Amino acid sequence: MNLIFLGPPGVGKGTQAKLICDYFDIIHLSTGDMLRTEINNESDIGKTAKSFIDQGALVPDEVLLDIIDSRLSDSNIQNGYLLDGFPRTIPQAEGLNDILKNNSQKLDAVVSLTANENELIERLIKRGRDSGRSDDTPEIIKQRQEVYWKQTSPLVNFYNDEKLLKEIDGIGEINEIKNRILEALN
Ligand code: ADP
Repeated sequence: MNLIFLGPPGVGKGTQAKLICDYFDIIHLSTGDMLRTEINNESDIGKTAKSFIDQGALVPDEVLLDIIDSRLSDSNIQNGYLLDGFPRTIPQAEGLNDILKNNSQKLDAVVSLTANENELIERLIKRGRDSGRSDDTPEIIKQRQEVYWKQTSPLVNFYNDEKLLKEIDGIGEINEIKNRILEALN
């Protein structure tokens, strides 16, 4: 089972991604987590990424495509994977299609979690108080939301055209939302 999770910052993508990965026993590939690991390791990728992330901007497509290319050719993804936070732009989605082709893989579904913007901003500001993430300040949160609507939301149509899209209401109890996702996938 190979999945993509799409959704604006704060919609609960990461939480649901973990639950769905446990359920199907597939690998959780979160590009946000990967980039934060690179930053902690003070690697070259980390140094580049930090300057973008701290402004709420996207890290360049080539950087992400290189990371994903190497992760999807790794043998540990045999049972499947869930991409969380990637792709985030149309060029990333097109690049992903090439990577999938080269590895003889295909996507089973793209889950798009939805919620209204005010709810999201409130949740993120709350999370920012205890996450310690440098990009969880009100100003940067607003910037990340804007980036999502401009650069990432076109992927909803992209994957709808590919007949892979499952739209799921992201408002409700964690378990309730998990069940909605599982129902859509089965
Ligand atoms: P959130 O879950 O709040 O949307 P993530 O943890 O997925 O945030 O990502 C945090 C930051 O990492 C993003 O704001 C962006 O700067 C960078 N990032 C993560 N994934 C990508 C990607 N696919 N393309 C470009 N930048 C990315």
